[in-house]
Amino acid sequence: MIELCAVERAYDSDEARVNALRGIDLSIDKGEFVAIIGPSGSGKSTLLHLMGALDQPTAGDVVLCGRSLSTHSRKELARIRSTTVGFVFQAFNLVPGISAAENIALPAVLARKRPSEYQPEVDRLLDLVDLTIKRNRLPNQLSGGEQQRVAFARALTMDPPILLADEPTGNLDTKAGEGIMDLLEASHDAGRTVVLVTHDLRLASRAQRIVHLRDGRITNVTCPSPRNRALEDILEVGDGDPG
Ligand code: ADP
Repeated sequence: MIELCAVERAYDSDEARVNALRGIDLSIDKGEFVAIIGPSGSGKSTLLHLMGALDQPTAGDVVLCGRSLSTHSRKELARIRSTTVGFVFQAFNLVPGISAAENIALPAVLARKRPSEYQPEVDRLLDLVDLTIKRNRLPNQLSGGEQQRVAFARALTMDPPILLADEPTGNLDTKAGEGIMDLLEASHDAGRTVVLVTHDLRLASRAQRIVHLRDGRITNVTCPSPRNRALEDILEVGDGDPG
């Protein structure tokens, strides 16, 4: 679903060159839930932006749903992005002057769909994130958790197969953060490929696989999912105890 081959990303400024990613090889399967963890500045957001075609590598290649991103123009990349990837960011990035429902509809409006095409999906998503009764509120009339739920719904408007989340609970209290993590898990359970960037090992451990980044390199890959562990426990008990 997402493949990175020898990916490098360097940023040049007047003072120095920053090598944010230094040779990343990573393959994420369809329907996987992967967390990327590492200290601040280790390259997590840069990596997520490359996976979502928001940015391009200075070396190496990113392949998204079988398509190499290096051969596409900016316009083509925008089109691939809009149909393939949904993003959730730490700062909710809602459009201030329009309602929750209009924010959720925005990707469909930008894709020139007719209201009759997208309205049922907007209604379904408002229900999914439990905001139907607050659909007409402006972003500044919603709590942080509610705003992030709107942003989450907006990421799904075009029904993308891939959901990328960059510290989605970073600005939320524990309860609101749990709500967003539950939505991410539900999205994964529904068959989406989910990639979560976080510096919080507790949140990362809800994924099936954790990719550890440091100084722009992958230092470790672990499979800690409690859900998987619970399943393994059940299977082991089942194997050893026929009764
Ligand atoms: P993380 O998400 O792990 O905090 P980032 O991917 O944001 O890390 O950044 C990795 C490195 O690249 C950092 O040293 C950061 O300062 C640098 N960096 C990120 N974006 C830019 C940019 N647009 N221009 C220059 N340097 C950048």
